[in-house]
Amino acid sequence: MTRHLITSALPYINGIKHLGNLIGSQLPADLFARYQRERGHEVLFLCATDEHGTPAELAAAKAGKPVDEYCAELHEVQARIAEGFRLSFDHFGRSSSPQNHKLTQHFAGRLFDMGLIEEVAEKQVYSNADKRYLPDRYIEGTCPNCGYDKARGDQCENCTKQLDPTDLIDPRSAISGSTDLEVRETKHLYLRQSKLRDTLDQWIDSKTGWPVLTTSIAKKWLHDGNGLQDRGITRDLDWGIPVKRGEADWPGMEGKVFYVWFDAPIEYIACAGEWAEAQGTDWERWWRTDKGADDVTYTQFMGKDNVPFHTLSFPATILGSEEPWKMVDHLKSFNYLNYDGGQFSTSQGRGIFMDQALEILPADYWRWWLLANCPETSDSEFTWEQFQQGVNKDLADVLGNFVSRVTKFCRSKFSEEVPAAGSYGPAEEALIADLQARLKRYEDLMDAREVRKSAAELRAIWVAGNEYLQSVAPWTTFKTDPDAAAAQIRLALNLINFYATLSAPFIPDAAASMRAAMHMTGDAVWPSDVQKALSELEPGHVFSVPEVLFAKITDEDREGWETRFAGGRAA
Ligand SMILES: [Zn+2]
Repeated sequence: MTRHLITSALPYINGIKHLGNLIGSQLPADLFARYQRERGHEVLFLCATDEHGTPAELAAAKAGKPVDEYCAELHEVQARIAEGFRLSFDHFGRSSSPQNHKLTQHFAGRLFDMGLIEEVAEKQVYSNADKRYLPDRYIEGTCPNCGYDKARGDQCENCTKQLDPTDLIDPRSAISGSTDLEVRETKHLYLRQSKLRDTLDQWIDSKTGWPVLTTSIAKKWLHDGNGLQDRGITRDLDWGIPVKRGEADWPGMEGKVFYVWFDAPIEYIACAGEWAEAQGTDWERWWRTDKGADDVTYTQFMGKDNVPFHTLSFPATILGSEEPWKMVDHLKSFNYLNYDGGQFSTSQGRGIFMDQALEILPADYWRWWLLANCPETSDSEFTWEQFQQGVNKDLADVLGNFVSRVTKFCRSKFSEEVPAAGSYGPAEEALIADLQARLKRYEDLMDAREVRKSAAELRAIWVAGNEYLQSVAPWTTFKTDPDAAAAQIRLALNLINFYATLSAPFIPDAAASMRAAMHMTGDAVWPSDVQKALSELEPGHVFSVPEVLFAKITDEDREGWETRFAGGRAA
């Protein structure tokens, strides 16, 4: 038995995520977690909401709620939707947890002790009306380059010129519109990432198994231009983790909080602390190599935009501490899923959001299509037509139809018990040999976190059963040799159970229905030996004919949804 620590990138708190977010981290992470559990390995699968920063404060203000209350509510909403998609987190935590406060303050203190934090005085815009410092992008004004009157303090989106807030003509607060702004001097802490460049370089070079997408992005950030820059880790905000040096106050840093990019990844560790507290168990055996975590395999799942944070920023925090923390072994990153010729967009309400998806179809339909088409080696695209085709063909025609045909035929010609007569012959031996080879490929692909190829192999395993059934044709055999038909249908009933176990990481609800129909109780046992697995349901074993596993998506359904989702929704 091996131990797998698995984390998914943390969804930001300010609203419900879309399907592009789901397939870019949480869903493939769940696939891997479910698979490793079924193989009998020990798994700790963690995710959490990322709750700090200005966007959370502004979203709360827009909702007319105190930010802590807003975050608590949105956390509940996201947790409920995650359950709806059957995301099997061992814990879905919060980056605002007491555990993360303590750990973030610990890391800051430790990095200071190691000489990796310096105080920098800088000028920042303060809004008297809003009673707060404004981050660059919350200052608007007229672009000095092109005259566009809604340029932001970091960039003009009209002419793309990079700006400083002080470049803007007639600057105003993007929050209140107030022009009562002044430039004040304030002090911030910077993490001296530049001093860690060689350490990071060596660490990345030691990771020979990482995807090219991951290493190329990391190396680009590490070496292009001036290389890795020192980075501010504090902010003048109210909402966040107060700046402390371990448990001690940090003179001069009163009233400041850590910058969200610094505290969010530390929540991966703190989340294990939240889980351990809820379970009454120990978390350090998962995260401290001096306390038992040296045999843990740690896999992170994320979208490609998150790669720099996971290959550089967070490792800089950990390596800089020179403490024995478990570091990532496999970093699985994804490209983007596009929506019908454009991008999914939260701010523009474009695409399908997770709550809407569950309103129109059960989770398994989405899980299957998204995983089978996930943007692994390049961006991929969701279109309603392809979704309809994929679901109807793979789930309804291939898998669902197999289950329905086999159970109904057995009920009508024999009974709702596994028939005893006949024995397996050359056709069954050939199928078993084929499935044994395919199972090995499926296992290797799942172990390698190859999502699309795993889905393709699973589909091929379903197809093999259908082809077998088509070629031996028990409905014809039955007329001349009922004993042979009994053996064929006994094998096919066993295949349903076999499929349920193999398919559960992709489509857990349908797999559970298949197991229930086969009257299987207890945990599924991974069928490493196909011969044995296909004799698991013995003659006389009772089963039931299940309800339709997957209803087909009609053209009318598809057209209705196309229209409904064409307009987008308010962010
Ligand atoms: Zn401009």
